[in-house]
Amino acid sequence: MTELLQGLPKVDLLLKDSMFSHCTPSILKVCIQNTLSQKRQEILSGKQSTLHLKELKEEIYALYLSQTQSTIKPLINATGIVLQTNLGRSLLHPKILEEITPLLSNYNNLEYDIANGERSERYIHITHLLKTLLHCEDAIVVNNNASAVLLVLDTFGKNYEAIISRGELVEIGGAFRIPEVMKISGTDLIEVGTTNKTHIWDYANAITERTTILMKVHQSNFKQIGFCSSVDFADLSKLAQEHNLIDYYDLGSGYMQGLQIHEEPSILELSKLSPSLLSFSGDKLFGGPQAGIIIGKAHLIAKLKQNHLLRALRVDKFTILALEATLRAYIHQEYDKIPTITMLNATLEELHTKAQKLHNRLQSIPYLKLSIERVDSLAGGGSLPQTPFPSYGILCQSSLLKTLAFEQALRKKGVISRIIQDHICLDIRCIFEQDFDKIHLIFQNLMKDFSNAQ
Ligand SMILES: *Cc1c(COP(=O)(O)O)cnc(C)c1O
Repeated sequence: MTELLQGLPKVDLLLKDSMFSHCTPSILKVCIQNTLSQKRQEILSGKQSTLHLKELKEEIYALYLSQTQSTIKPLINATGIVLQTNLGRSLLHPKILEEITPLLSNYNNLEYDIANGERSERYIHITHLLKTLLHCEDAIVVNNNASAVLLVLDTFGKNYEAIISRGELVEIGGAFRIPEVMKISGTDLIEVGTTNKTHIWDYANAITERTTILMKVHQSNFKQIGFCSSVDFADLSKLAQEHNLIDYYDLGSGYMQGLQIHEEPSILELSKLSPSLLSFSGDKLFGGPQAGIIIGKAHLIAKLKQNHLLRALRVDKFTILALEATLRAYIHQEYDKIPTITMLNATLEELHTKAQKLHNRLQSIPYLKLSIERVDSLAGGGSLPQTPFPSYGILCQSSLLKTLAFEQALRKKGVISRIIQDHICLDIRCIFEQDFDKIHLIFQNLMKDFSNAQ
């Protein structure tokens, strides 16, 4: 045992080892120390009876890599779910990134008034475009829509009452609950109606001197069917106006022109009602960067800007630039620059052609049984929960492994799929043609590995 302990190499010697020549010394040193101390423990407890320098060095290197390498990897989304929150939600098109790169890598007038040589406001780069696009009086942008809800409630609801339907006290993925956010903001939540039915008089009867907001929240990730009704925002808006209150609609996602869907609230249509305030996510159906976009009456947006909480929810230049480029794409109707729209609008014919191409690429791989089937994709991201988007999937099975193991193996290689009736389903909707080679290689290598293992 003492021999083994004495045989452990010195830290200084390992630090100079050529195997680690490209490593950052300070980080490497910690990895060496931790590995050596673990080895010492193992020797003392009798678990380690031999010592190989090569293995020890490999262990140190593995630890170094695990602590210094990136853990975020590109994935192939074969689930057909366009707004997959776990997989990063909305994608930004390379053309958008190309437009903003020179601005990100150079100084710019983010908060600078060039004409007067004075400090200016970062939001102006976005508000004029939002005004053009949505005909709103004014707008502001924060980190995400959760922040938008918090900022609105904190500004106008704190120590006052906000009235909301019991059917709209929703929880969104990632533990965002409307009642909790209201509590954090210090707004008293006044629930009206029932889970399935709320009427305009429910709101009207609940108005008191302490009421400041009539709030509507979109039931993003679920759908009520049967004996149910809720109040149209137009009616809620009218009631708010009559009582000099703020009508605020948290749309969650909402959708813009360019998308042919009707189950979600249209941002443009709602904006035409001249609401006090509307908010929605930048990276759901809008198809931009993560952001919370608030539009509405100028005097209310001005109040939001005065709230010190805004400083904590402030968007950075990356968000502003990516959002600005996305807004310009909408204004010029360049919807091809918004992948969320392209993927959701893809026709069955286009999807079939794409599926056929991938099918043909994979067909020659042994041990695979493939077919093309009609499947349904989903929008995801808490949008359109019940709306199927007709698509095509490549269904596969292999004689070498069970479907569950197949799914897991693909996942570990970066292909995220679904299982449909004991088949792997590669829904073609969110798979890019430039990834076909990669997918081919992954399937080929998997079949090779599993046939060798048999
Ligand atoms: C998604 C959603 C939110 C939260 O938006 P994030 O941009 O994810 O913060 C809030 N309210 C509703 C109704 C939503 O659907």
